[in-house]
Amino acid sequence: MIIFMSSSLEHKITTCVLCPRLVQWRQDIGQIKVRRFQDDTYWAKPVAGFGSLQAECLIVGLAPAAHGANRTGRMFTGDRSGEWLYRALAKQGFANQAESHHRKDGLKLHNCFITAVLHCAPPQNKPAKDEITNCRRFFSSEFRQLKRLRVMICLGQIAFKETLCLLESELQIKFTPKPKFSHGNTFKTSRDLTIIGSYHPSQQNTFTGKLTEEMFDTVFRKARHILNKSQD
Ligand code: SF4
Repeated sequence: MIIFMSSSLEHKITTCVLCPRLVQWRQDIGQIKVRRFQDDTYWAKPVAGFGSLQAECLIVGLAPAAHGANRTGRMFTGDRSGEWLYRALAKQGFANQAESHHRKDGLKLHNCFITAVLHCAPPQNKPAKDEITNCRRFFSSEFRQLKRLRVMICLGQIAFKETLCLLESELQIKFTPKPKFSHGNTFKTSRDLTIIGSYHPSQQNTFTGKLTEEMFDTVFRKARHILNKSQD
């Protein structure tokens, strides 16, 4: 049985106006658009997490992309980062298809939930500190609903850092010393929850070769291996 996010939480997220700069930005982007999406009606609102609440694997991104999730209304949908992510997920059976174009494209996640530290697109993909702090309430609320989590994959340094903060406050875990972010860095918390760091599949990383498809696949293979092992 698939249980989706409570509609009250989804409503709270998608109607949030706590960060004035981001409210302005998400709306402006939706009006101005880019040429290739001129005919689209942009979502231009905060984007809630996506997947089943029974998931054992949580993917944590940075934020919706201006012309990706801010346009389509679903995390990592309609942009290049999403192409990388869903391809990797599909290879390991976490998604039924490798492509993600719009909210009604038939994509389904298996045992996986996708969210982001920030639920609104920030200018230049650079959120301000207070915006990250504001959005922690939603990251935490989503996390609290995911009671079966075994693995968290953090895409990028900010997602990794915020995940540590989240675990400290939600699970009262004290990290001493604090784990450092690096691609593939994996550690297990005292609650039998494994955290894996990964470079974000942004074009900045994929175009420059800092992140290759094999490097990215390795992260998801690892997650799959951990989940398979825990079923033995
Ligand atoms: S980033 Fe989060 S807290 Fe800020 S307006 Fe968007 S949904 Fe609200």
